[in-house]
Order: sequence, then C-alpha cells, then structure tokens
Amino acid sequence: MITTKKMPDQSNEIRYVSTRGTAPSLGFEDVMLTGLARDGGLYVPDKWPRLAPPEIAALSGLSYAESACRIMKPFLGSDIPDDEFKEMVEAAYATFSHSAVAPLVEIGPNQWLLELFHGPTCAFKDVAMQLLARVMDRALKRRNARATIVGATSGDTGGAAIEAFAGRESIEIFILHPHGRVSDVQRRQMTTCQAENVHNIAIEGTFDDCQALVKALFNDLERRDRLALAGVNSINWARIMAQSVYYFTSAVALGAPERAISFCVPTGNFGDVFAGYVASCMGLPIGRLVIATNTNDILARTLETGRYEPNEVIATSSPSMDIQVSSNFERLIFEAAGRSGERVRGVMTDLADSNGFTLSEDELTAIRALFSAQAIDEEEVKRTIKDVAEETGYVCDPHTAVGLAAARRTARPDEPMVTLATAHPAKFPDAVGEAIGKRPDMPSALEGRLGADEHFEVLENDYAALTDFIESRARAIQEPAT
Ligand SMILES: *Cc1c(COP(=O)(O)O)cnc(C)c1O
Repeated sequence: MITTKKMPDQSNEIRYVSTRGTAPSLGFEDVMLTGLARDGGLYVPDKWPRLAPPEIAALSGLSYAESACRIMKPFLGSDIPDDEFKEMVEAAYATFSHSAVAPLVEIGPNQWLLELFHGPTCAFKDVAMQLLARVMDRALKRRNARATIVGATSGDTGGAAIEAFAGRESIEIFILHPHGRVSDVQRRQMTTCQAENVHNIAIEGTFDDCQALVKALFNDLERRDRLALAGVNSINWARIMAQSVYYFTSAVALGAPERAISFCVPTGNFGDVFAGYVASCMGLPIGRLVIATNTNDILARTLETGRYEPNEVIATSSPSMDIQVSSNFERLIFEAAGRSGERVRGVMTDLADSNGFTLSEDELTAIRALFSAQAIDEEEVKRTIKDVAEETGYVCDPHTAVGLAAARRTARPDEPMVTLATAHPAKFPDAVGEAIGKRPDMPSALEGRLGADEHFEVLENDYAALTDFIESRARAIQEPAT
C-alpha cells in the first residue's frame, strides 16, 4: 500500500503567540521546551482548533489514550508523527493504576467527582507530567540537546515532575519548594528520589517566593540560554493541553455534546481551570466553570470586584493552592482583552509597580460569561470533608473539598456538575484525619518511598544563592561559541 505524506499546510498549522505580544511566535516543540516566553508572557495558540459535535460524540467509548490523541493532535502541528505521539500517550497513561485513567464517581444527584489522582504520585499533576516528560525527552534526543529544568512547587508539581523526569539522560531537574510549607508526604515524594539528575531545593520562603525566583531565572536571558532552561510549571502550554483532555472524556461520558456539563475546579495557579476554558474554546459545551479557591482568595476577589491584588499567602490544609500570584490568569486576561498583548503588558506593569491591576468592565463581563468563583475557608473545608464522608462514605482530600464546597454552594438542580478531585486523601492524612477522626488508608504507591533517605538543600530566598547552586550542578551548560 502506498501512503502519501501530506505536506503540512503552513497557513493552517498552529503557531503559538505570547500573551505580551512581542516574543517570536513558535511551534509546539519550541513552546514546550521554552516554558515562559522571552518577553515574560505565556504562550497560547494563535487560534483555537475546533472539534465539531460529531467528532466530540465519536470520543464516546474510546480509551482515555485514544481520546487524548484525537483531542491534542491539532495542537502539535507537524512536530510529532501521529504514531510516535500515540506511543508516548499510551506509555504515559499506562503508569496510572485505574484503567479509566480519570474515572467519574457519582456522589449525589447531578453531582460528580472526576478522580484525577490515579497516577504515580497520587495528584492530578501526573496526568500532564507523565506525558510532558516523554514528549520533552523525545524532542531533546532528536535535537541531540540537553536541558535544565527548573521549577517551583507548592507541593504536587515537584513530586510529579521528579517522578516523570528521574533518570532521563537528556535532562537535569531542579525543584524549589517552600521550606516547611509542603506536607510530609509531598516532601518525601520529592526528596527520597535517588536519581542523580534530580536536585531538591528548599527555599526559606513561600511558594510565591519560589515562583518569583524561577521567573527571575527565566528572565535572565543570558543564563537561560547558557543553561538551556526548560520550564515544567503549570505555565507550560503542553501541560494545559494535556489537562484539557479529561474535560472532554468526562463531559462525553455524561452526555456531551448533546448537553452542557459544568465543572468546579480547585484552583491555585489557574492552570487546571484554564484547561477547561481551552476545552470550551475547542467546542466542548461547558455550562459554567466554577473557580474554587481556599483562603488565598485572589481570584474570587478579582471576579467579584474586577481588582486583582495579591495579599500575603496564608498556609492552609490545601497547600497546593496556597498561591496569590495566579500565573495562568494572564492567559485569560489576554483572551478577555481581545488578545491584546499591549493590554496584558499594561496590566502586568501595573501589577509590578502598584501590586495590582483593575480589569475593564468589558473584560470582567467576558470572564463572567463562563466563570464564577467561590472562596472556601478552613472551617468549611473541614466540615465538607466530614459531611461528604458521613452522607456518601466518600473520603476526599482538602483540595477536592474546596471544590466540593464551592460546587455545593452553587448547585443548580438540573445542571450536571463535575468537581475535579485533584489529590488522593492519603497525601494529606493529617487534615483528613482531623476532619473525620480517622486517617485515610495509604495506597501502596505512596507507602513504598516514605521510609527512604531524603536529599535536599536548604537555601535562603536569594537569587545569587540559587544560581550558584544550579550552575555548579547543571550538566547542560552551553559553552559560548568561539
Ligand atoms: C496543583 C494543584 C491544584 C491547583 O491546580 P492549578 O492548576 O494550580 O490551579 C489543586 N489541587 C491539587 C492537589 C494540586 O496539586
């Protein structure tokens, strides 16, 4: 049989543009390897690919991996051949312990939980990270290149990244976490990894401090090039893309595209809920996207008042959402402002100069058309874990409880609502135990590592200390051309 290879149609192929409008547009692989755009912005597709209703309906009955290939394909351009991508997707989701990968659980009339924690580190970050590691490793090997990954974690990203990238020859990985501000289980998942390419750094500060250090490093362009820096934080477009898949699979299981499904998403850096927005732009009928925050309620305040203004970060029982600078929100502002890079530069300058910015009426109206937000305090988180366990027998983790509390507050009788269950309750045994009087059972994936030796370096919240540490250990350093 003769197969003809179609030349990529240049005019139609997806390119990625920066939310700040001045960085060069790039193809998929470059965007994935770059993370942050060189003008400080975040990359978004120059147009939203659309799946027609029959294409969405046709996802019904497919495996998660097959659906994932169809949904992500338009984002890849011609960078990765279909069969190789399929292999990587299948390998990524074979690491999950549930055959459905992201199963739905009914917990009340029209109330569903989408369990995203069946991957190797028991939090939803595995869904994207397992795929990202494979696609990145392939891209680097093909280019005969190495990269230095530097990332900040509020708890779960680090563990998922280390699990996915450990031992990969082409990559050196440095993960910053806020010292003493992640749970024991989260810390041990990162620090007990023995692979030589893994470096854990505990920063004396908050997650926002860690994130600021990483951003400073990416904006230090000379160093960024020399170290071949790559980012795997939730600003990495490939992660968002991978997360849009489970909005489709769950909505289709519940009757989309014939009916609209709403989602309630426990939110920190706005990555997961932005993936829902992506699914909606691609044609998935989504009724509402409810942003659920903990006490760190910057997004709830912004949707209420139009004013985005970070406060001090408060430590809560849902540490992966203890964030006041919600990076991916920049992507939504770009969309709400009619894709004006100039406008995004303006609000980001205001944020830097006066610790805040104000959305216009039109921007706020555009955002509120799909999004609403609820802030859930610690008392309500605890009560929700307890009430849900008593009413249904289902034990949820504090992040999921933030989502469930918001879903319960805003429930409408005839609206199917899916709350994203982002972590396994055993990752947060103290908070769950306090709520229900009994510590959750530990899945074997978590148990294995917990006794092993820990490796990490404590550093001050200081840019020079960080760069010294990284430069002395990175293997990807490019010699200047002579
Ligand atoms: C990262 C994380 C979140 C928040 O996701 P964002 O993409 O940052 O909004 C919620 N729950 C858990 C368990 C997480 O690890």
